[in-house]
Amino acid sequence: MPKTVKQDSPAYQNFVEGQKIVGEHPIFESLLRGASIYSHKETSSFSGERFAYVCKNGDINCFIQHRVEPVVWARILAHCLLHLGMNHFVEKEHPQLWNIACDLVVEKFLSDLKFGSPCTDFILPPGINNEERLYCRLVDQGIYAVLGTEYESFGTAGVNELDMREISKIVPPWQKKDWPKLFARGLHDGVH
Ligand SMILES: [Zn+2]
Repeated sequence: MPKTVKQDSPAYQNFVEGQKIVGEHPIFESLLRGASIYSHKETSSFSGERFAYVCKNGDINCFIQHRVEPVVWARILAHCLLHLGMNHFVEKEHPQLWNIACDLVVEKFLSDLKFGSPCTDFILPPGINNEERLYCRLVDQGIYAVLGTEYESFGTAGVNELDMREISKIVPPWQKKDWPKLFARGLHDGVH
């Protein structure tokens, strides 16, 4: 089980500041209010570097052991929220390639918006427009040509880890939210 986080630690304070940046942006405000953010301390059994993953019901699980700047946390949280808002929780034959295609589209959106600071130094590849088309392109290239490349570095859960979880899980009615609608509202508010 994940351990609880010391709430007075500088790492946790940066995480809280990051949430504040997201909540103050009109595009993300409604999405953030709909989501549930949880903070954990990484267990010693996990050797990779991960920051967060998002579940279909809107739960975002964050791992606070790395001290990163609030603008990095803002980018990570916005990334997770956009998977919900862009309706990325769809079952596909190749879940890893679908997650990568969605990561690239999300990061392209955030880069164009100049929101927060990315947690990877890699430059986004060209030709990112639509996640379905990108997914088909990655499937054509073949899973072994894609996995192990920098394409895997744009998610928030670390290399080889999906940052969208519980895609096939049925969300109970009381937890269901119209995420694309919340995103559309944010986009509307963000440009007016
Ligand atoms: Zn992602």
